[in-house]
Amino acid sequence: MILDENVLKDVARIEGVDIDFLKRGVKAGRIIVFGNVKRKNVKPVAIGEGLTTKVNVNIGTSGTVVNIDMEVEKAKVAVEYSADTIMDLSTGGNLDEIRRILLKASEPLPFGTVPTYQAWIEGVAKYGPSIPSDFFISVVERHLRDGVDFMTIHAGITKELAEKVVKSSRLMPSVSRGGTMLIVWMLENNSENPYIKHWDYLLELFKEYNAVISLGDAMRPGNIFDAHDEFQIAELVNNARLARDAVAKGVQVMIEGPGHMTMDKIVADIRLEKSLSGGVPYYVLGPLVTDAAPGYDHIATAIGAAIAAAAGADLICYLTPAEHLGLPNVEQVKEGLIAAKIAAHAGDLVKLGPRAARIDAAISIARARLDWETQIKLAPDPKKALAIRNQFEGNLKSCTMCGQYCVFLLLDKYLRNRREPTLDELIERLRKGAPFEFP
Ligand code: SF4
Repeated sequence: MILDENVLKDVARIEGVDIDFLKRGVKAGRIIVFGNVKRKNVKPVAIGEGLTTKVNVNIGTSGTVVNIDMEVEKAKVAVEYSADTIMDLSTGGNLDEIRRILLKASEPLPFGTVPTYQAWIEGVAKYGPSIPSDFFISVVERHLRDGVDFMTIHAGITKELAEKVVKSSRLMPSVSRGGTMLIVWMLENNSENPYIKHWDYLLELFKEYNAVISLGDAMRPGNIFDAHDEFQIAELVNNARLARDAVAKGVQVMIEGPGHMTMDKIVADIRLEKSLSGGVPYYVLGPLVTDAAPGYDHIATAIGAAIAAAAGADLICYLTPAEHLGLPNVEQVKEGLIAAKIAAHAGDLVKLGPRAARIDAAISIARARLDWETQIKLAPDPKKALAIRNQFEGNLKSCTMCGQYCVFLLLDKYLRNRREPTLDELIERLRKGAPFEFP
């Protein structure tokens, strides 16, 4: 990997950590810093041990809805509402052109892709089912040349696992789109996974471009009943082995995980990944803690993401209210992102303690003072917060929930002579609390 001193300094300042801690983490593979050598305007974003939990937003066309303007709008909303990374999952239209447009629209955020989609879609059109295995790698090279900072590479799903899973009683054998394309390719061609076959060359490529391999999870559970079965765990073991190999060869890597999973399994899942991989950053989808929330899956996801972040997950992939129902629109992207950001922050309050609590202290002080301007300014979506504040009557000193019976007004004259705690004193209180331990 390439360690740019200025980038590391920026990351250390943004994260509030020591630069030597950062360097040690990067060298050991426990921290990754995004930045393809081809990209000039990428924000210094790092994920991993001791750093804040980041949130990824997926955008992109589908096979049935190709509206590039809408996808550009989604990228802009993701940047505006503080996503940390953006992934283009496009499968419809001119994929090279769309990727380049969305990469530009996503600036300055790190940008990821799933090259398997394009390799499969273009490969089937060109060769039929017998796509040559090196065609998958040529598409990876195309994305690297464009400046893609990280890519999902489904190298953990072997031919043996693919053969077993389609004969198993798993409710949903694979819910990963790229993973399923590879399973079909392996079964059709009776060949090993192309990313396993060309693994050493892939490592050379990613090293040359200083890009991050995100080891995909073809076997992630698509419902709570398939969670932690032999397929999910077998793929995680494979991914951890590959990740350790990448770290040993100086290539930045993270592992993708979860999906659907009840709350009691999340902490064990995170600990297992960290233990098997030697602390390689974990990028989790959700997890969704119930299958029973169509239309509200961003909430099912936020519950799991908060637990995952508190337990050590490093990057959360958001989900939108449209999950399982259709391609999201711009507003649904915004809703999903904000839900995931809240979850990641709630996790950080446990994972990082006082370091993450400054904004909570500032909002709480403003709340106790009935300082509406500050509360609204610091809200995840200030326009929405202001609209709610004004929906019945916006000019009250209190709010319309209790009106004249507001607790802060009732107590006002008794509180005038007391000394309010400062922001730093409030944060210090978190340090004194008993450390939270998961069961
Ligand atoms: S009116 Fe009620 S809800 Fe509103 S600020 Fe006062 S106590 Fe809180």
